[in-house]
Amino acid sequence: MSSADAGSWSASPLDRDAPTYVAGHRGLVGSAVWRRLEGEGFQQLLGRTSAELDLTDRTATFDFFAETRPRYVVLAAAKVGGIWANNTYPADFLSVNLQIQVNVMDAALEAGVERLLFLGSSCIYPKFADQPIHEDSLLTGHLEETNDAYAIAKIAGIMQVQATRRQHGKPWISAMPTNLYGPGDNFSSDTSHVLPALIRRYDAAAAAGDESVVNWGSGTPRREFLHVDDMAAACLHLMEHYDGPQQVNVGTGSDLQIKEVAQIVADVVGFEGRTDWDTSKPDGTPRKLLDVSRLAAAGWTAGIGLREGLEQTVAWYREHARDA
Ligand code: GDP
Repeated sequence: MSSADAGSWSASPLDRDAPTYVAGHRGLVGSAVWRRLEGEGFQQLLGRTSAELDLTDRTATFDFFAETRPRYVVLAAAKVGGIWANNTYPADFLSVNLQIQVNVMDAALEAGVERLLFLGSSCIYPKFADQPIHEDSLLTGHLEETNDAYAIAKIAGIMQVQATRRQHGKPWISAMPTNLYGPGDNFSSDTSHVLPALIRRYDAAAAAGDESVVNWGSGTPRREFLHVDDMAAACLHLMEHYDGPQQVNVGTGSDLQIKEVAQIVADVVGFEGRTDWDTSKPDGTPRKLLDVSRLAAAGWTAGIGLREGLEQTVAWYREHARDA
């Protein structure tokens, strides 16, 4: 898709009294979106846990939309995981995410949903895309192998949004966040993303007085990290200001090496020992810094610094998830 198809940045505020469904409202992103919408005065938020509504169940999903008739949808429901989980269960990541997206978007179309925001991931871009990665890089090269199945599902979601716009004239949009972190994350050691894994590991090592910890890979890949409360603010900003087929990148505009971020986590939790690196574990893509100039030009930039965000996330982890 060329920049010419990038869409328009025109304001159309959402009606705070309209039924608004946050799909995945118990997840990292969905729960932050929920808090943000609540804080912004949305009166009729709709959420269902996966036990209450299985979004891979097409009939149940259609029934839910027919009953509740949401006017707006934030599609944050997804099967997500870190590098090990994606690399080990690619078929699950592909199948479950395709099912969720197709069911929610088809049901939303039938129920006449006006505005829908589909959330993807920066892993949709080619492994060796020019950095920072512009939206136009989509489908210009090979994907990173450790999460290509997940990425293909997300690319299909972007295409469904674009196709629904073309065929049905719906002003639906897509946003591609960089690596997210914050309260409500999955802190399990195998399936999580790097930041929650590091928080758990360094916090436990500090508490036990261990001499060293072992992280995955070489520590040299670079990643960009966005606090999920910033992501939630960006979601609302996009829904109220952006109308176009092309996905919009959401990030901070700066990245750092995994070994640098590990050192910050060690400082924040008070770990003073040594860090070793297990290079038998995959590094993943060498770098994925998003070009966030489009979103910045439209008036939104991230506000939560990494150190501040990590301090707040560590405090949340210690209170809510450490002993879980
Ligand atoms: P990615 O951004 O899709 O590669 O996903 P992750 O957040 O899972 O991993 C980011 C980087 O952190 C990779 O280079 C990993 O090898 C590295 N890493 C270091 N230690 C860990 C860990 O304990 N868990 C995870 N998930 N990644 C780690």
